[in-house]
Amino acid sequence: MQLKIYNSLTAEKEIFKPILDGNVGMYVCGPTVYSNVHLGNVRTFLSFDFIYRSLTHLGYKVRYVRNITDAGHLTDDGDVNNDRFVKQTRLEKLEPMEIVQKYTVDFHKVLDMFNLLPPNIEPTATGHIVEQIELTQKLIDTGFAYESNGSVYFDVLEYNARGLNYGELSKRNIEELFANTRDLDGQGEKKNPQDFALWKKASPAHIMRWNSPWGEGFPGWHLECTAMSTKYLGETFDIHGGGMDLKFPHHECEIAQGKACNGTSPVNYWMHANMLTMNSQRMSKSTGNYILPMQLVSGENDFFEKSFHPTIVRFCFLQAHYRSVLDISNDAMLASEKGFTRLMEALKILNSITPNDEKQSGFSLEDWKTKCYDAITDDFNSPVLIAHLFEAVKFIFALKDEKETISAKDLEDLKATLNAFVFDVLGLQNIEENNNEKLDQTLQVLIELRNQARKSKNFDLSDQIRDKLLAEGIELKDGREGTTYVLN
Ligand code: AMP
Ligand code: ZN
Repeated sequence: MQLKIYNSLTAEKEIFKPILDGNVGMYVCGPTVYSNVHLGNVRTFLSFDFIYRSLTHLGYKVRYVRNITDAGHLTDDGDVNNDRFVKQTRLEKLEPMEIVQKYTVDFHKVLDMFNLLPPNIEPTATGHIVEQIELTQKLIDTGFAYESNGSVYFDVLEYNARGLNYGELSKRNIEELFANTRDLDGQGEKKNPQDFALWKKASPAHIMRWNSPWGEGFPGWHLECTAMSTKYLGETFDIHGGGMDLKFPHHECEIAQGKACNGTSPVNYWMHANMLTMNSQRMSKSTGNYILPMQLVSGENDFFEKSFHPTIVRFCFLQAHYRSVLDISNDAMLASEKGFTRLMEALKILNSITPNDEKQSGFSLEDWKTKCYDAITDDFNSPVLIAHLFEAVKFIFALKDEKETISAKDLEDLKATLNAFVFDVLGLQNIEENNNEKLDQTLQVLIELRNQARKSKNFDLSDQIRDKLLAEGIELKDGREGTTYVLN
């Protein structure tokens, strides 16, 4: 089985050769935790969750690093006194690290809701200031960076003068770049407008600041990813991912920093996930064209006619390839819900099928499995994988109607494979089973409260709990082993 990955650097699908046989080092740019993640952000993280799950399922031992940007991300308005955190601090009247904590917690909650697996390492920018200062110093020492008025900039022209190629990832021509850039955040400090900050001097009002050889300041955004990916994955590692919009300048700058520091290209395979759109426009906080994950799940929004379970959203996202634009709409969500229900129904039916070893089946399990694995290994093609899963669904319904047969061995194999694809690789959740589990947990809490009421001779309350549950069709039965319940 050969895995092919589309490499944004070469713009080609390439056969994946990991640096260390059987192992994968993967770095994905994480969120800037100054506000709630929107559904667009979720799509990108979910795309890489599917890639991580697929790699693991294919047998690779993956070290998955996804950072938290909690410092040094300048605002779009180019105001040197503002990074996004400082601005939010003023708005919410909170300490910067309170902002960071608040939105990191929100980020984790949201990703957990969509059943994303946590990365193996989740480093923060503020936890790696020393490494960033060291890298900056190294770049000054080797002549790739210069200090100017307490800030340090990467010298893009010097980089190119040494035969390196700034623009190789975004396929931008450096002359064009120079012509099109306004010097927003350098304020005359830079040699060239395209030079980017490795370290920024902090103005007196800037509260997130650290000591450095160039005075008090804070790191530039691009540098943190170079510092953390190098520390945890090495100077060159296998896969680097992020949203399409990070190609330039963020990833371009990461390549330049890595090459200038270590003399080698930092990443073998660059992967970029495409955007989520709504009303055919990119979802984005700044334009107001966005929806928060909770608004979709709770139904409290003006865009969707009903609420949707997070696993339906996940299923909808995976029906588009990670490199394609996905437009989220009411119709797309309703269709996903319908498809998901049929898929779950098929899985349930599979448990009640009686095998038949006598008759020949018209469905070749081996061919079907090969097609599913071909989809995963063809640049993680989730929509094609899902299409194949629905071939199996069709077959399962034919089994139910006794129009098809399956041998005992194949039945076990089909069950195991389908479950693995649905739950491990696609990361879907069985809503019905989860709901039953939640109901059981809730009833155990009520039984415990009733026992406590009885112990303290509050029979009024204990009877109320019993009677109200009974009215809802839930009968409590007291026995020697304790209290159990029956759903009527
Ligand atoms: P940020 O916190 O702004 O750095 O964004 C976190 C991630 O979300 C980045 O990888 C972005 O590329 C990605 N992203 C932002 N907007 C969208 C969108 N509309 N669709 C998909 N990914 C997005
Ligand atoms: Zn990054």
